[in-house]
Amino acid sequence: MTTAHIMFGGNIGDVDKTFRDAEEFLSRNGVVFEKRSRIGSSAPVDCVPGTPDFKDQAFVISWNRSAEELLELLQHTEKLFGRPENHRSDMSRTLDCDIIFFGNEVINTPRLTIPHPRMHQRMFVLELMVETAPDFIHPVLNKSVKELFDALY
Ligand code: AMP
Repeated sequence: MTTAHIMFGGNIGDVDKTFRDAEEFLSRNGVVFEKRSRIGSSAPVDCVPGTPDFKDQAFVISWNRSAEELLELLQHTEKLFGRPENHRSDMSRTLDCDIIFFGNEVINTPRLTIPHPRMHQRMFVLELMVETAPDFIHPVLNKSVKELFDALY
């Protein structure tokens, strides 16, 4: 089993319900949810003008397969909850699922960058992860989530 950290984001429709339903779907497909943050709300970053605010939630999970298989399941879940094919990353979405950390692994492949490359610059990620994993050490930056949060705050 690997302990991983994932984030949900969304800004279209009943986002709270989408998050609950996505969590239930993932639970039925091998994801064990260990901890969850509150659902936070934040202004869009790097999006077209007029984009509605996003909601986000951070989770600590256990998973007994590879990071690539987790990504496949998360991408399948995004589509199931309404994300169209060829969706640009600066557009509104019902559900976005990101892997932030996968154990202490550092992964750089065409499909997967772990730790997530922008997590330490994003307040909406860090303020929620401070609730779920304040003492987790970023395996590249060698700083805890709380230290990264304090550096941005
Ligand atoms: P986005 O549109 O922001 O959801 O980005 C999706 C793309 O990011 C997909 O093509 C993934 O293969 C890629 N990706 C790279 N690293 C990650 C990660 N850590 N978590 C989720 N998606 C990732």
